[in-house]
Amino acid sequence: MTTTHSLINQLIQLQELVVANMQKKVSMPNARLEELGKSISSLGADLPQAVKSHFNRLIQKHPEAIVPVANELCSGCGMGLTKSMVQAVHKAESLNRCPNCARFLYYPEQLVAAERKSRAYGEARKTGISRFTSPELMMVPLKGTTAEEVLAEMCGRMASEGFVEDADHLLDLALQREAIISTAVDNGLAFPHVRGVEGGGLSMAVGIHKKGVKFGGPGRTLTRIFFFVVIPTATSAFYLRLISGLSKTFREKEVSDALLACTSEEELWKALIKATKKTFK
Ligand SMILES: [Zn+2]
Repeated sequence: MTTTHSLINQLIQLQELVVANMQKKVSMPNARLEELGKSISSLGADLPQAVKSHFNRLIQKHPEAIVPVANELCSGCGMGLTKSMVQAVHKAESLNRCPNCARFLYYPEQLVAAERKSRAYGEARKTGISRFTSPELMMVPLKGTTAEEVLAEMCGRMASEGFVEDADHLLDLALQREAIISTAVDNGLAFPHVRGVEGGGLSMAVGIHKKGVKFGGPGRTLTRIFFFVVIPTATSAFYLRLISGLSKTFREKEVSDALLACTSEEELWKALIKATKKTFK
């Protein structure tokens, strides 16, 4: 592993922590986030000064400062990159930046491909939450007894319904993301996700676990409602708004109880639409 490779990994981890911090701020307004803040400063501490200040400038503008190259495009701004730029990013002898948006670029070992183009995001006919999800992504009940089993179920559904190509690869990335810091918040909610899923739209599966699973939530909270999202880089900013809206909506006990009471996927779909009608227009 070259120094550039480890620098890239460090930047990706740092970015996940910064975004997790934004996400927790919007989803748990009263949470104490000192620990997360400490992890962010210690992870950033030994970065070269120029890299660190550039990273900080970028992250203030966008939720992502380091983005994958996908199909010879910068997945941050969508600009086409020259062959020699793509090669340089692939070789990773030094850190490269997009000539258009200045984000750091990396070459993913393998991209999770989305099969169904814009299945959800951007379809004009659809309104509200149904722009990002669909009846076949409602899962009730989830049966797994561990975090990994639950995530495997949800990744499996994403793949079997044609939203991504490879369930195992998606699961690996979802677990890597949870290992950086749990996506569980209070009130029994969790927002596991995989970013950098290029080629399709932002898509969300919703799963209900009747008994609840240990998912790393605050204290001994069990997680019962899972919002699993695959996120193309270009929709990262929107993703934070989605999470913010969902956590506001389902922080209300009656509203989350209405989801937990569902016994069929059809019922869950109806309950989700009803609960989010005001939040997502
Ligand atoms: Zn760019």
